[in-house]
Amino acid sequence: MSQSTMSSLPGAAGAGNAIALYARPSANFAAKLERSKQLLREAEATYSPLTQASSLGVEDMVITELIHQTGIQTRIFVLETGQLHAETVALLDTLQKHYGREVDVYRPVAADADAFVAKNGAEAMYQSLALRKECCDIRKTRPLALALAGKKGWLTGLRREQSNARAEVSEVEQQPERAKINPIVDWTWGDVWHFVQQHNIPTNPLHDQFMPSIGCAPCTRAIAVGEDFRAGRWWWEDSSKECGLHVDGGKAKVIPIKESA
Ligand code: SF4
Repeated sequence: MSQSTMSSLPGAAGAGNAIALYARPSANFAAKLERSKQLLREAEATYSPLTQASSLGVEDMVITELIHQTGIQTRIFVLETGQLHAETVALLDTLQKHYGREVDVYRPVAADADAFVAKNGAEAMYQSLALRKECCDIRKTRPLALALAGKKGWLTGLRREQSNARAEVSEVEQQPERAKINPIVDWTWGDVWHFVQQHNIPTNPLHDQFMPSIGCAPCTRAIAVGEDFRAGRWWWEDSSKECGLHVDGGKAKVIPIKESA
């Protein structure tokens, strides 16, 4: 079984309760949690101005809770691609009310998105990898560049367990213009849901429908027993299941990890 396989998933049919199904902390969870908070404080001290990239997935909701608990100064942004599930859009509003803060929302240039659909159709992403990547470029990569402009660091909820493509992710990666900080990189799926349960963190109800990784509606499906966490993303492709936001072909330089105090 691969490192990223969700062996505990009961299957894609029907709905479950993600907390009841998955909340199983690691034996060393308390130490992991302290390390995550330490990383956030170090990020604030070293890489401000910071921003958090939130997909509104459960890992990113955990990062937002950790930001709230540590009190570090950072913006939070969401890429509203225009193709998100209604449940995801609703969670954006819930998050802002829950934490009493405003989230920065970045959208694609409407003329670019409209022109792409007019030329290639609303389901162009299924036709070829090139068209899918062009859609991701318009709706995600270009808005991401705007969201990151002027920032020295960005916070993500990447975990090594999520996929083979993410198995080598480090706590801190130096990219050409800024650092990417991944505070829960070694958390398990059970750790994530344990923390959600402990702190009553709002989550996307689609996670209860066996969607561990939630992106745009046309490009996300539920997964079945034995499938990887990200198997439901661009499921018709034989690709790395990435849109270019997080896996850059190894261009990032890894910063040596400091030992925990
Ligand atoms: S995930 Fe799908 S709908 Fe969203 S930007 Fe990429 S190709 Fe387009």
